[in-house]
Amino acid sequence: MTVTLKDAAAISAMRRAGRVVAEMHEACRELVRPGVTTAALDEACAGILDRRGATSNFLGYPGVTRAFPGVLCASPNDVVVHGFPDDRPLSDGDLLSVDTGAVVDGWHADAAITIAVGEVDDEARALIAATEAALEDGIAAAVAGSRIGDVGHAVQARAEAAGFEVVREYAGHGIGREMHEDPAVPSHGRRGSGLRIRIGLCIAIEPIVVAGSPRTHLRDDGWTVVTADGSRAAHFEHSVAVTADGPVVLTAP
Ligand code: MG
Repeated sequence: MTVTLKDAAAISAMRRAGRVVAEMHEACRELVRPGVTTAALDEACAGILDRRGATSNFLGYPGVTRAFPGVLCASPNDVVVHGFPDDRPLSDGDLLSVDTGAVVDGWHADAAITIAVGEVDDEARALIAATEAALEDGIAAAVAGSRIGDVGHAVQARAEAAGFEVVREYAGHGIGREMHEDPAVPSHGRRGSGLRIRIGLCIAIEPIVVAGSPRTHLRDDGWTVVTADGSRAAHFEHSVAVTADGPVVLTAP
């Protein structure tokens, strides 16, 4: 495992990339409604990357079967992560997770949100709220001197307190010159376990929370991950820098 700590200059460069990601999320929140396609969201986000002089760390990401085809992952309902943007219109009541990233001056940012399409049911609202709260608790635990297991524990405890489970087969990650760096940052864990968190550590914390069983299944396209039981998933992610003043969310507006 090679963990690279970032200095203040690197963190401010990542913050610039993070603002572009936040702008893409904001555009998606504004555009999403029944009838809109995820291909349209992808196009809008590609335009933002262009205008900001940023590049995509998602488009062309190598996979086993093919390179990733969009600047964002669009994962509706039972899709857990890595869904392709496509031409199917969204429906009233859908849950849509949008995961996207940007590169500015060689520094990466990566974040995800889950958006309610039109009017969603109570379970969907609770799932969104629990996942977002789990991310907030995970961020609060990312302080110098604590450990990666403390982050996972905080995320898992919050999700489970709401009656849901976290997906364990996909984890957050270090981020910097690469989108995926060491260490892995699971959304579950034991207090006091794992790598010691130090000032300059930059990580993407990304709880994926499911309404049913956390078991997942990979579709034949080699990318799209769905829940094995068809239950719905929500996904929130921020890229976070650990500083002397505590955790700084790099992908905030
Ligand atoms: Mg990520």
